[in-house]
Amino acid sequence: MIWFNNLIAKVLPIVPKPIVGLFSNQYIAGETLDETIPKIKELIEQGMCVTMDLLGEEVKKKEDSLKAIETYLQILRVIDQENLDGNISVKPTQMGLKLDKEFCYNNIKTLVEEAKKFNNFVRIDIEDSSCIDDTIDIYLRLRKDFSNVGTALQSYMRRLPDDVNKLIPYKANLRLCKGAYYWETREVVYKDADIINDSYAYVLEKLLANGCYIGIATHDEKLVWEGIKVVDKLQLKPDQYEFQMLYGVDHELRRIIVNSGHRLRVYVPFGKEWFAYSIRRLKENPKMLNYIMKNTLKNLFGKNK
Ligand SMILES: Cc1cc2nc3c(=O)[nH]c(=O)nc-3n(C[C@H](O)[C@H](O)[C@H](O)COP(=O)(O)OP(=O)(O)OC[C@H]3O[C@@H](n4cnc5c(N)ncnc54)[C@H](O)[C@@H]3O)c2cc1C
Repeated sequence: MIWFNNLIAKVLPIVPKPIVGLFSNQYIAGETLDETIPKIKELIEQGMCVTMDLLGEEVKKKEDSLKAIETYLQILRVIDQENLDGNISVKPTQMGLKLDKEFCYNNIKTLVEEAKKFNNFVRIDIEDSSCIDDTIDIYLRLRKDFSNVGTALQSYMRRLPDDVNKLIPYKANLRLCKGAYYWETREVVYKDADIINDSYAYVLEKLLANGCYIGIATHDEKLVWEGIKVVDKLQLKPDQYEFQMLYGVDHELRRIIVNSGHRLRVYVPFGKEWFAYSIRRLKENPKMLNYIMKNTLKNLFGKNK
């Protein structure tokens, strides 16, 4: 199916925005914080916790990063006031990484400092391969002074073992995911699904065995099983790891994990900048692809031709 995936990767960027919009609702909790909070309360009532992501990436102007920071500060206040079990996830390119690395570092530091006052936590998302060195560097600088910050790793990355060896001495707090940037080349990432899963399982065990706190972020039941297996093998306590899933994906698996007594955090994106995020989610949703392809072709070439 590699050819099919390649085809989808080529077609998706030209899918008309309204069609993406039709499906994005499933993955996005709301456009505003007010719309999003009730959805979060629902998840918490069902025994989950959350991480909140203000949509937006690759900002072109510093003022857009500063606006995003204002919203994140508001989120931290609301989480505290409403006593919600939640933290925040931020994208380095939304914090200005591609404009000025020091500016980005200071922006994330502002959030980590503020989160610390509220006894809260900041997760730095991991983006495409062009951002990884800087993201790990920013994380390690912050980690020296703060314990309430973490970042993420992708199991499809060929460089992963080196990054893991670099992060272990810091007892890093990490989210482990497969990786979402589908345009990465074969030189940079594994394309084979089995290798990506093996890499995930190998690194997960190594990180947990070395005392890192891991967010096991996946909807792949094989990897959820790998998580459960290693948690049992290492006799970990529930406060040494958590499972994580994206808002809008596989509610049944979510319930199963919670009912088995594991901590489960839902990644809840909200905001107006939904397009890039939705494209990544659609690429991963096997059921949507047919529908999107059909509608896109209809739209491009007209119904009656
Ligand atoms: C909490 C969380 C945070 C993440 N943070 C990052 C990050 O910082 N950086 C990054 O690069 N990636 C991130 N990702 C995305 C991740 O890298 C994968 O791209 C994504 O999770 C799909 O991989 P999977 O493990 O679910 O396995 P897959 O093999 O893609 O999916 C397994 C099964 O889950 C279901 N499924 C998966 N995705 C969808 C979907 N969108 N809609 C419907 N069903 C679906 C399907 O049934 C599929 O067969 C994150 C994922 C999670 C869960």
